Amino acid sequence: MIQMPLQDMIKKITDGAGISEQEVNDKIKQKLEQLSGLISKEGAAHIISNELGVKLIPETTGRLEIKNILMGMRDVEVVGKVTHNFGIREFKTDNREGKVANIIIADETGSIRIVCWGDQADKTSDLNPGDIVKISSGYVRSNQERNEIHMNDRSVLEKNPEGITIDIGPSAASRKKIEELAENEGNAELLGTIVQVFDPKFFEVCPECNKRAKPTESGAYSCPQHGDVTPNYSYLLTAYLDDGTGNIQAVFFRNLVESLLGKNAEEILSYKDNPSAIEQIKTDLLGNMIKVTGRVNKNTMFERLEFVVQSVDPNPNPDDELKLLEKEKQSVEAQAVTEEVQ
Ligand SMILES: [Zn+2]
Repeated sequence: MIQMPLQDMIKKITDGAGISEQEVNDKIKQKLEQLSGLISKEGAAHIISNELGVKLIPETTGRLEIKNILMGMRDVEVVGKVTHNFGIREFKTDNREGKVANIIIADETGSIRIVCWGDQADKTSDLNPGDIVKISSGYVRSNQERNEIHMNDRSVLEKNPEGITIDIGPSAASRKKIEELAENEGNAELLGTIVQVFDPKFFEVCPECNKRAKPTESGAYSCPQHGDVTPNYSYLLTAYLDDGTGNIQAVFFRNLVESLLGKNAEEILSYKDNPSAIEQIKTDLLGNMIKVTGRVNKNTMFERLEFVVQSVDPNPNPDDELKLLEKEKQSVEAQAVTEEVQ
């Protein structure tokens, strides 16, 4: 069964049957009583929509906007622009092995994860952010209350189909509360207080391409692209940010560590062999309010969300922040007034 949030169903029944929301709610209640609790509210709403001849799901096969994609749909066709390609992962369990790839696509109405199993996974290997893909015959599953389109052997993924453009626009970072953050959210802005700081981690990178260089058996370092190299060092730092609604681990890479600490690369690298020098710096950071933009990642090892920082303002202007708060408050108040008038 296709799953739609109850509130959306009530709205569709209200509009479709031309009756008030109160009447719809009463009917749902009656139906629940009549069936003595054998069905859910959603189930009752389905029955009522049938009785009233209201179609909850428009009977369109053909292309869907991402915002209209619902859990349980089959044969879904959708077109979107790739915003993330997380690559192909191989897995092996006791009774199954295979591979799976994850990408995120977006259209003008929203974004959704595409999960490609088996041979379908290979088709994502050359997809880059900005490519347009057309998905046909996908099916929709829900994962932690978010819909995803899964691709099986019957599904088709077409790269850059002719004559299709998608304008998702330059997306400005939108201010979020930590409790609102969801997996794969890109371009979010947070204002939070640093409540815990971990030691920086240093790692070897290729001097040519700055990608991670892996130690070889002979004790040298090797870049997948450039072979054996004498590595440079890069670094990352993680800190917990708290904004009153929750906390999240924020990960700062290289130049963002420099911006956060107000130190240059040379100074930071000196902490590698002198970890005690960082202690005071860590203590000084505690309690600082900072503004960061970035994206939300699922740390699969620890099953928790983390915030990968893409820009940091270590000293946000308090006046600007107050103004923003005031604006938010006004819009909430305006909304409350409108609701009261209706
Ligand atoms: Zn390299």
